[in-house]
Amino acid sequence: MRKLFVFGLLFLAGAARAQELHARWDELTASDWPKALARSGQTCILPIGILEKHGPHVPIGSDLIQVREWAARATKKEYAVVFPDYFYGQINEAKHQPGAFALPERVVWDMLEATCDEIGRNGFKKIVIINGHGGNPQLIRYFIQTRLEKRRDYAVYFFEPSGDSAYVRQLNVLHKSDASTDAHAGERETSSLLYLRPDLVQMDSASNESGANQRRLDIPNIYTAIWWYADYPNHYAGDGAKATKAEGQLINEHTIGQLVDALKAVKADTKTLQLQKEYFDRVK
Ligand SMILES: [Zn+2]
Repeated sequence: MRKLFVFGLLFLAGAARAQELHARWDELTASDWPKALARSGQTCILPIGILEKHGPHVPIGSDLIQVREWAARATKKEYAVVFPDYFYGQINEAKHQPGAFALPERVVWDMLEATCDEIGRNGFKKIVIINGHGGNPQLIRYFIQTRLEKRRDYAVYFFEPSGDSAYVRQLNVLHKSDASTDAHAGERETSSLLYLRPDLVQMDSASNESGANQRRLDIPNIYTAIWWYADYPNHYAGDGAKATKAEGQLINEHTIGQLVDALKAVKADTKTLQLQKEYFDRVK
């Protein structure tokens, strides 16, 4: 009898696991859609990555892998629906290197706009963009600002993680290379991949190319499109060979913690949509 009772409990636990509400849009069933909308507070995360060379040693999809993992791990603590793999961004500066997937500018724009409209049409009122690619923030901010061009019944939020003093102190203890030149596929990003996907990192090749700033163009107070190529033609900025899994764990846990807090705040937010409506009511 007791055995039967224990078996019954195990069976129920198994059934509960099978009925778990998935976060990824592509893993949900249509029957679960209303439940996912309710539990997420009509909030959908749009993780944006890119396909581009990341030095000689970390994967082409590093940016996508990172944002996908942040979303997957954060939504286990604070539920939201997660849009599947999205790697359509601004990456013209890497077309001379293998693996870059650089769509025409208008396709990138139309894709982002149509994607948000489709997420909205499926019942979401809040879209949270999380971005892993350094060439995207200007595009994303301009995109979000232009959402005021015409009335929409959803709002787009941009998650921008920051470093508090306790985190910066801990990071400084672990960090070994020059922080001012540590960027694309450098110590921090390589550490992040070593923590999230060590199977994809080739530490042996991290020093096969230089990630130093080559300073081939210097016009004071001027921005040009070729600045990144001028500085980093190897599409590598920093020293990935100094990376450690411990540093990656710190960076990712900090970011994921901030994302959980941001999701809670966005889900609780009633003002953005209310102010957006008030604004459009006043626009003639
Ligand atoms: Zn990257």
